[in-house]
Amino acid sequence: MTDAALSPPPARPSAFHELEVTWVHHWTEQLFSFRVARPDDFRFRSGEFVMIGLPAEDGAKPLLRAYSIASPSWDEQLEFLSIAVPDGPLTSRLVHIKPGDTVMMGKKPTGTLVLDALTGGETLWLIGTGTGLAPWLSVARDPDTYSRFGRVIVCHTVRNVADLAYRDFFTSGIHDDPLIGEEAAAQLTYYPTVTREPFDTPGRITDRITSGAVFTDLGLAGPDERGGFSPDRDRVMLCGSMAMIKETAELLEGFGLKEGSNAEPGDYVLERAFVG
Ligand SMILES: Cc1cc2nc3c(=O)[nH]c(=O)nc-3n(C[C@H](O)[C@H](O)[C@H](O)COP(=O)(O)OP(=O)(O)OC[C@H]3O[C@@H](n4cnc5c(N)ncnc54)[C@H](O)[C@@H]3O)c2cc1C
Repeated sequence: MTDAALSPPPARPSAFHELEVTWVHHWTEQLFSFRVARPDDFRFRSGEFVMIGLPAEDGAKPLLRAYSIASPSWDEQLEFLSIAVPDGPLTSRLVHIKPGDTVMMGKKPTGTLVLDALTGGETLWLIGTGTGLAPWLSVARDPDTYSRFGRVIVCHTVRNVADLAYRDFFTSGIHDDPLIGEEAAAQLTYYPTVTREPFDTPGRITDRITSGAVFTDLGLAGPDERGGFSPDRDRVMLCGSMAMIKETAELLEGFGLKEGSNAEPGDYVLERAFVG
């Protein structure tokens, strides 16, 4: 018998990284962020998502769900923004993670919320509801975003003011970013809206697009015109609830914008993060 026959078969490379949690922050009872150290060989494009999960209990298969990476492609840490669904199979457990715990992460990032899937334009709109803000934390910290677009507008719609995670970051913290701080200060506008509490800019983003309020607020409408999106100027990314995405995509099509993909870049791209 040869030595080769005696040695155990080579272990199959795992499809997942097992990563140490380095930081956890709870925004509300239903919303938290966490970071893991980035594996040296993990590459992704800003705006992509990856499978995240926890090692199985009782030897069952690990429980995995799609998560947008909330860090830009150059970052050494990988950040995620998560919902906590009380009876959600993954997040009812994930909400209890602490620094030092282990999280599993798939090795193949993917997605359409990437600059590559858009043709050139002047203004980039990043429109998200709830945890649909996560990919904008990535795209808005990527230097390519500011070299490709003169203006970047981050719209975040949530139910309650407390759900406006990263509000301070988008209002001021991002201006201190060593890589894109100056560009963000000059080119980025943050536009939050709140649906269930009084707020300066209340209501759904879709209603504020339909009424023209968002264009007036941002100085994009003339005194006698309501404003709108233009295929010559505007490029849009959408992420969040199915309802918001469906309605906004219909509005964009009405303005003449066409959906793009990695294979065929266009005027807008979308990712349905959850039904509801
Ligand atoms: C491409 C993609 C990217 C995603 N990125 C993120 C992300 O960055 N952060 C994140 O928290 N989730 C994200 N999700 C949703 C995520 O995959 C899981 O659904 C979520 O983590 C809940 O998992 P769960 O097992 O606890 O419950 P699930 O059984 O997956 O969901 C239970 C119910 O909770 C609701 N729900 C699920 N996710 C959300 C959410 N994010 N916000 C509000 N309601 C929700 C849905 O109505 C669903 O029916 C993404 C999904 C997709 C497809």
